Amino acid sequence: MPQNKLSARAHARTSAAALEGNLRALSRRAGVPLLLPVKAGAYGHGLDVVARIAAGHPDVWGLAVATPQEAGTLAGLNPGKPVVLLTPPRPAEVPVLADLGVRLPVASLEEAENLPPHARAHLKVDTGMNRLGARPEDAVRIGLRLAERGVLEGAYTHFATADEPDLAFAWEQFRRFQQVLAQLPPLLAHASNGGGILSLGALPGMGLARPGLASYGFAPAHLKDVLPLTPIMTLEAEITHLHMARAGETVSYGGLWQATRDTLLATVSLGYADGYPRNATGQAQVIVAGERRPVVGRICMDQCMVDVTGLAVAVGESVRFWGPDSITVGDVAGWGGTNEYEVLTGLGTRVERLGAE
Ligand SMILES: *Cc1c(COP(=O)(O)O)cnc(C)c1O
Repeated sequence: MPQNKLSARAHARTSAAALEGNLRALSRRAGVPLLLPVKAGAYGHGLDVVARIAAGHPDVWGLAVATPQEAGTLAGLNPGKPVVLLTPPRPAEVPVLADLGVRLPVASLEEAENLPPHARAHLKVDTGMNRLGARPEDAVRIGLRLAERGVLEGAYTHFATADEPDLAFAWEQFRRFQQVLAQLPPLLAHASNGGGILSLGALPGMGLARPGLASYGFAPAHLKDVLPLTPIMTLEAEITHLHMARAGETVSYGGLWQATRDTLLATVSLGYADGYPRNATGQAQVIVAGERRPVVGRICMDQCMVDVTGLAVAVGESVRFWGPDSITVGDVAGWGGTNEYEVLTGLGTRVERLGAE
């Protein structure tokens, strides 16, 4: 715990051991090293926290980010492993990123020509996601030009449906990617996200895989039994106030919840501005003093109230909102009508990110 006087009231702790275990399991199943997505602050876990752990991991080849700004930040942390940018930079950003050693996505002949000679490119092929990349029929020409210029390091595509039960389209996307690769010189090819690794397993000809959410410990419901993944984040916040609500009184905005008996309430320093879903009101539960207790009344911007009747708790103690067991991010996402991606990446800046063993 930080000891400075004005410190954060909420902490997200990332378990290095759990992350390392997930990375090992995913790399083994994919049969290749990982290009670990650390976009969006490492899915909310903290870019520096995760980059530090991943940089020392033997199964991690490199780190992938979504924006040039993230690439710059990550390069500034000197992770000691390649940084790969997954979305197109503005033309003016290209030389800056190349100088930082950031691997750049390329999806047109014009982009291929504009790379400085010391750049390293990953050809982006759109095999069906329809988000980014060159169409397969154009990709070969672009890849050959990159090879001719001596800047072609890798090629990649992204699955649209690999985390769904029906894998027909994912296999079709992979077939289209393979057709492109067959016409290019040997390179580092990568396709699978976490869903792809879990559902498709090791894919022929691939040199890397890019598991995001799975690295952080979550699998789609129908793929939960494929690998033993452990959620790596524990989110806790402090009790700032304890008080008794009398029977018949209501709690929080709108008076949505009414005490049926005298109720000991803990006011806790976490709210929707910190990423705790407001829509979880009425369903959310937390762990206090080892017990599962309901959040009562409307979840506020900065706080929420928990029924702690009968528990021996004190101001300053921590309430656990999620962790590797008992209450998971998936539970909270379910209560909030969203998914784990959105809950994790929505964690606010007031939540301090910490590493743990
Ligand atoms: C975010 C992202 C990933 C990781 O996806 P998960 O579903 O979290 O495994 C992989 N590749 C690309 C291009 C991405 O944008």
